[in-house]
Amino acid sequence: MARHADFGAPTGRYGLGRARVPGCFLAAPVPGAAPDAEGSLLLDLLIEDGRFAWIAPAGALSQTDAPVIDLEGRQLWATLLDVHTHLDKGQVIPRAVPDGTLEGGARGTIEDRRFWTPDDIAQRMRFGLKCAHAHGVSMIRTHLDSLEELAPTSFAVFRQLRTEWAGRVDLQAVGLVPLAAFRGDWGHRLADLVLESGGVLGGVTDALGVYQGAIDEEMDRLLDAFLLAAADRGLDVDIHVDQTEALDPFALPRIAAAVKRTRFKGRVLCGHCVSLALQPDDVARDAIARAVDAGLDFVTLPTPMIYLQDRKPGRTPRWRGVTLAQELLDAGLKVAVAGDNCRDAWFPFGDHDMVDTLHHAVRIFHLDAPFSRALAMAGPMASDVVGAGHHGRITAGAPADFIALSARTLNEAMCRPQADRIVVRGGRRLTDGLPDYAELDTLVGMVA
Ligand SMILES: [Zn+2]
Repeated sequence: MARHADFGAPTGRYGLGRARVPGCFLAAPVPGAAPDAEGSLLLDLLIEDGRFAWIAPAGALSQTDAPVIDLEGRQLWATLLDVHTHLDKGQVIPRAVPDGTLEGGARGTIEDRRFWTPDDIAQRMRFGLKCAHAHGVSMIRTHLDSLEELAPTSFAVFRQLRTEWAGRVDLQAVGLVPLAAFRGDWGHRLADLVLESGGVLGGVTDALGVYQGAIDEEMDRLLDAFLLAAADRGLDVDIHVDQTEALDPFALPRIAAAVKRTRFKGRVLCGHCVSLALQPDDVARDAIARAVDAGLDFVTLPTPMIYLQDRKPGRTPRWRGVTLAQELLDAGLKVAVAGDNCRDAWFPFGDHDMVDTLHHAVRIFHLDAPFSRALAMAGPMASDVVGAGHHGRITAGAPADFIALSARTLNEAMCRPQADRIVVRGGRRLTDGLPDYAELDTLVGMVA
């Protein structure tokens, strides 16, 4: 039997023996398989024609004549999702020089846009997709900065890349604008473009100087216009919410109220919501109750937030800059974790590696007990908040997409970077590897 270290490139019909699969990744219960202390199950899986034919308790493969790769109790995960990224801004280091502040991120992005030709955007997005693919990410939702002069180009590039990458990294796009765009007709014309492109309507309600007067009752009016523009076209929405330490204005309860007021029926995904963690306990509790009532979903972006929030010269940050993930989960809400910015004017790090993001999330949010709660945030829960079907799940009948780790336990998986992970898509091992940074040199002014 083959071992993890020499996992070949089998095709056709073969078995995966003694795989330890975290229960959160299983779309259906496996009768007869008992979870271990971490909630993982020891299973055999049969792959036929690039799909999982069946999933059964370990030992079941001895009844077949299929060749078997013995995973010896090592972890087998579904491929992961990154449901909040900005591929259009990414991979611009050292062309952009982040100063570590939110304001610097906004300013640096505006300055960098002078380079954003269709080819520049496409090459940088493609680089990000290669990273994600090699790391075992099979689905990405990217926001696209959607100013009137930019959106037609960005969406055209996006549509081309969505076709080019279909089945490798499945893509969704969010047309992202300040809510003020719904004062005039651009917000509505953007909603048409989003509809034509099969996308999601995005808005910003954070305090990064882009309110443009959209506070209090004016924010309510604009939220209504935004949600109605989406509802008219059957679009889901995805909002950047309360992304600073400012306690006031507090958009989250206003979004919940607007969803109720407009009887909005689509999915509402709220990103960031970091000031929720600084609100008085009773205010936070009330906002979470309103979110439950309105059926809001959440996505938290811990890696750039811990870098950007509470940054002041010469002073060590005093808060973590992330939302109340535990309280939101405990209230029964769906909370995804995602990577957000990657090597751009906001955040100079990252590699679209959701295993790395999970490592950060487990530590930052104290989501280590049980580990499976954190895993679900990059797997099935992330899939649910963006309607991504089989992504993030191991399902009989679905494509045999998975990540095989050398780690046996989730503890081992959380301690090393899992650089030796094996990514399998449609039953075949990926051998592409990570892209060379040198591919970006001429775009970003890098002199080797
Ligand atoms: Zn974002």
